Amino acid sequence: MVKKASVYENVTRQFNKAADLMGLDTDIRKILAKTTNEISINFPVEMDDGHIEMFAGYRVQHNSVLGPYKGGLRYHPKVDLDEVRALATWMTWKSAIVDIPYGGAKGGIQIDPFKYSISELEHITRRFTFALRQYIGPEYDIPAPDVNTNSQIMAWILDTYLSTIPPKERHCSIHVVTGKPVESGGSLGRNKATGQGVVFCIEEWAKDNNFDLNGATYTVQGFGNVGSWAARLLKPHGAKLIAVEDITGAIHNTKGLDPDNLTEFVKEHGGVANYPDSKKIDHKTFLSTEADIFIPAALEGVITGETAPLLNVKLVAEGANGPTNIMGDEILQKRGIHLIPDILCNAGGVMVSYFEWLQNKRSEYWELEEVDAKLHKKITMAYKRVRDTAKKFNTDWRTAAYIVALTRLEKVYKERGIFP
Ligand code: NAD
Repeated sequence: MVKKASVYENVTRQFNKAADLMGLDTDIRKILAKTTNEISINFPVEMDDGHIEMFAGYRVQHNSVLGPYKGGLRYHPKVDLDEVRALATWMTWKSAIVDIPYGGAKGGIQIDPFKYSISELEHITRRFTFALRQYIGPEYDIPAPDVNTNSQIMAWILDTYLSTIPPKERHCSIHVVTGKPVESGGSLGRNKATGQGVVFCIEEWAKDNNFDLNGATYTVQGFGNVGSWAARLLKPHGAKLIAVEDITGAIHNTKGLDPDNLTEFVKEHGGVANYPDSKKIDHKTFLSTEADIFIPAALEGVITGETAPLLNVKLVAEGANGPTNIMGDEILQKRGIHLIPDILCNAGGVMVSYFEWLQNKRSEYWELEEVDAKLHKKITMAYKRVRDTAKKFNTDWRTAAYIVALTRLEKVYKERGIFP
């Protein structure tokens, strides 16, 4: 049996394909093919009943030539060094594509957060932050939310970090983390930013392809931050959500599922299963649903050699990181299914994280309209850069997105040289 490629092996293959096609400088290729720092921390936490549990946490810093390391923290049982390494590497490409002065990092804890009480999650978060504090910092490495982490967890990280630094540095350090609650220094528009970026990309794709979003159908996998916001923001275009899958199951309704009601339902019940206005379907049926657009917004490795032939859509807009592996990509291309790759499509999150960071550094609060307008301008420009690069190199959009990123990084390394 052929061994399945790991998440990081997929990143390496994507990278090699683009580097070969663009003729990336061989020395710079060696640098970018490696991560810079990989931090593994095992730490104990006392549970509510007094017993101690050990947890494994990670932070991988891939590259910082463009600016401070930046990337989310994930709480999930499948978090391991391989996955975090892949996610950190994608962050470097993402920031380079959308032209923001950040490098790439990612982290997480190998944990099923649903098994723990709120107070246990707070202790786990604070203890991990305490262990990580020497490796992060407002001008060095800035975490943000990812799968199963949110603004509350960012607030605990902020408070723990600020409590461990000298008092005089506290008020100029709140940009150590982004995706904070607005009252604690977060930005308006950050919560919806990734979903908003996905929708801005879909709007551009629709314009380019003379496609009318009014009446179009779409399916979404993952109805958390990214998936639910993308669904809600597509609704005003007149597009119809017909199937959704999350960890609790998959549901379908050809007449349309209301994204706002579904979001409220998920908040109350913890998932989409048993949503009243829907029929339960299995995973295979969900993936085979005929629709115009599929938004994967859950985890990696959903569109593979086995599942790509099932898809029945015109466009895949990747809200999640790494939902499509190399085999999946090849099949989608052969089948003429368009794809807006993750490192472009979900970059709205890191862009508004950057805006939050800037607001914190300048002690400013921007209006939502300002945040949205800046996000729209930047992600649209990035979309066009990737589209034009795909044409220039006669290649797929993922490879084009890599070429945009690698071209920028190559230029910077060539200008600066390698110390000493
Ligand atoms: P989240 O925790 O808010 O939501 C995750 C969703 O995925 C949930 O609905 C969960 O039920 C679902 N899910 C988990 N396992 C699943 C499975 N096996 N099958 C089907 N559904 C499953 O996470 P999020 O922040 O929305 O992140 C989703 C994806 O988007 C991740 O790949 C993340 O890295 C990426 N992303 C997030 C952001 C951000 O700002 N939050 C930014 C860029 C990219």
